[in-house]
This record gives sequence, structure tokens and C-alpha cells, in this order.
Amino acid sequence: MRILVTGGAGFIGSHLCERLLGDGHEVLAMDNLLTGTTDNIAHLAGRKDFSFIHHDVTNYIFVQGRLDFVFHLASPASPIDYLTYPIQTLKVGSLGTHKTLGLALVKEAGFILASTSEVYGDPLVHPQSEDYWGNVNPVGPRGVYDEAKRFAEAITFAYRRFHGLNTKVARIFNTYGPRMRADDGRVVPAFISQALSNRNLTVFGSGSQTRSFCYVTDTVDGLVRLMESDFPGPVNIGNPDEMTILDFAEFVLERIDTRSSIVHRELPEDDPKVRKPDISLAGEKLGWEPIVGLEKGMAKTIEYFREKLKVLQ
Ligand code: NAD
Ligand code: UDP
Repeated sequence: MRILVTGGAGFIGSHLCERLLGDGHEVLAMDNLLTGTTDNIAHLAGRKDFSFIHHDVTNYIFVQGRLDFVFHLASPASPIDYLTYPIQTLKVGSLGTHKTLGLALVKEAGFILASTSEVYGDPLVHPQSEDYWGNVNPVGPRGVYDEAKRFAEAITFAYRRFHGLNTKVARIFNTYGPRMRADDGRVVPAFISQALSNRNLTVFGSGSQTRSFCYVTDTVDGLVRLMESDFPGPVNIGNPDEMTILDFAEFVLERIDTRSSIVHRELPEDDPKVRKPDISLAGEKLGWEPIVGLEKGMAKTIEYFREKLKVLQ
């Protein structure tokens, strides 16, 4: 197939491009480099089956030739990124999703929206299953991301119902791995880069809040299986292995030789207290479950940041 990946120069997008190329597809990555970098796809440059288009998807999108599938991943994704770019985040979730759906429609292509566990907000149901409608504060600082993605899901389903477009929605939970930015503020790169540079690990609040971390190749495999299925979703893609942030900080300290210890900082507003995906639907409809455990996934991620910091020093 000939596949467009918006957000293709980002963390998950670059791994998705790699996987799709490995599966024999032709890939076009589109990105405005707001939070991503061409470094993530530099190793793909020059391939005949790969091209990069520098474009902001909130503007009209033109792609020459046939397209069989569109993955819409473009969006700031880390809390500090979407707090730095609140308007761009709202625009890419709304206008950007509209433009990419319009493109899929004219090309008669399939479409996957990369949605998020943030549509569940600070959840009152645990673990989160797809039939839960969420607990989102629309006017809080995180609302710019959560509501943009909720709108994106709504317009994706509207295109399915009104235009008969072959759309799918994946709700991705906390994903980690190589190519996250050391300074994107998300807890995995934050703790690893702090430990590697002997800075104290900044646990927000008491650290009793929970997250469940999924290694990036597992997330990408879930997205590919969703593309290959006839299931519209929404479907949770995440690893149900839940832990507190304090336990995660200790996990990192035990695996990196460091002089760092733990310090507590103020908990950001509306920070979800718990998060864990119910992935029974993904198992049933996609035959998918994560296979990379935290030990193995973190070893690869720590190695990546070790190399990255060496280059910077
Ligand atoms: P990322 O910031 O590394 O990648 C996002 C990419 O989108 C970046 O390369 C950025 O430059 C690009 N982008 C942003 N606005 C754009 C625009 N208007 N036009 C074109 N490109 C634009 O983040 P990521 O972690 O790789 O996230 C990718 C997608 O997955 C996002 O949609 C995010 O909401 C979703 N997601 C990620 C996670 C996670 O844990 N990583 C969890 C849930 C959902
Ligand atoms: N967190 C933390 N210290 C940090 C960065 C994040 O304690 O330096 C916490 C954050 O408050 C949240 C969890 O780690 O409870 C996960 O944060 P992240 O930004 O990775 O993603 P989120 O799941 O909140 O979108």
C-alpha cells in the first residue's frame, strides 16, 4: 500500500514509518517539525519507498498520486508540549483531523486516528474500557489536548457515518522508547535523563498516581493490526502493567548507576490519579497484546538516552 503518516517525524510516527516500510509498504511521512525532528527519520532518507513532506496538516493538504491509508498521528503529545502549544494542539486535533479526513475521502483511503487515554481524563472507572466516556475538565490546562482528541474522535466517527469512510480510532496509552525527546517532560525520558546526569528525579506529588507503560514497538504493532482489521474502534492500545510513579522512579534508580535520589515537586493540575487500559477488546478484535515487558523495554530506552547524552557531552 501507499501510506501517509502525519506526525511521521515524531516518536511513535517514526517507528510506525519503519514498521510499515519493513512490511513492504511505500511510506510518506508528513510533519511540520513542531515537536518532532528529521533526526528521527534521517536513517530512512534516500530510500525509494520513503519520502518526507514538510507540511502543517492544519492547512489544506495536497498529496500527489494514490493513497491507500492515512495514519493521523500529528499532535503535540507530552503535557509540557501541549501546554507550550495550546492553540496548535487544539488546531491539529480539530482542523488537522478535518483536513486529513478530507484527504482520505478524496483518495478513498482508510484512516486511523491516534487518539489517547486522555479522552478518559482523570478516570472514575478503573481500569479504563472503551465504553467509559471519561472525566475531562474542558477548561483546565490539559483540556486543550483532551478536548482536541475528543473532537477528533467525534469528527472521525462523523466521516464514517456520513461519508462511509473506512475510519478507525486507536486510544493509545503511555508509550515509551527510543526517540522520545530527553526534554519533552514525560516521565520516562525525564527520569532516565535525570538519572544519567546525576540530577534528582522529580516525582510530582506524592508519586501515588499510577501509569501503565507500553513499549513503542508494541503500540505500533497494535496500530498496524488495527489497519489490517475491519474493526472501527475505538480500541485501547496500551500495556496494563500498572505501577505508581514513585515505584517507577525507584525502578529507574535501581537500573542506572547514579548519584541521583528522589525529590518531590508540585503535582500538575488535573494530573490523572490512575491509568490502566482494559485491553480485552484489542485481544478479541485484533488478536493483539503487548509482548515487551518493562525490564526489556527500559533497557533499550536507557541505552538510547545513554548514547544520546554522550553525543551532547
Ligand atoms: P511526538 O511529539 O513525538 O510526535 C508528534 C509529531 O506530530 C511531531 O513530529 C510533531 O512535529 C508533529 N506535528 C504536530 N503538529 C503538527 C501539525 N500541525 N502538522 C504536522 N505535524 C505536526 O509525539 P508522539 O508521542 O510520537 O505522539 C504521536 C501521536 O500519538 C500523537 O497524536 C499523540 O497524541 C498520540 N499519543 C501518544 C502517546 C504516547 O504515550 N506517546 C499516548 C497517547 C496518544
Ligand atoms: N511525572 C513526574 N515527574 C516528571 C514527569 C512526570 O512525577 O518529571 C508524573 C506526572 O505527574 C504523571 C506521570 O508522571 O503523573 C506521567 O506523566 P507523563 O507526562 O509522562 O504523561 P501523562 O500520563 O501525565 O500524560
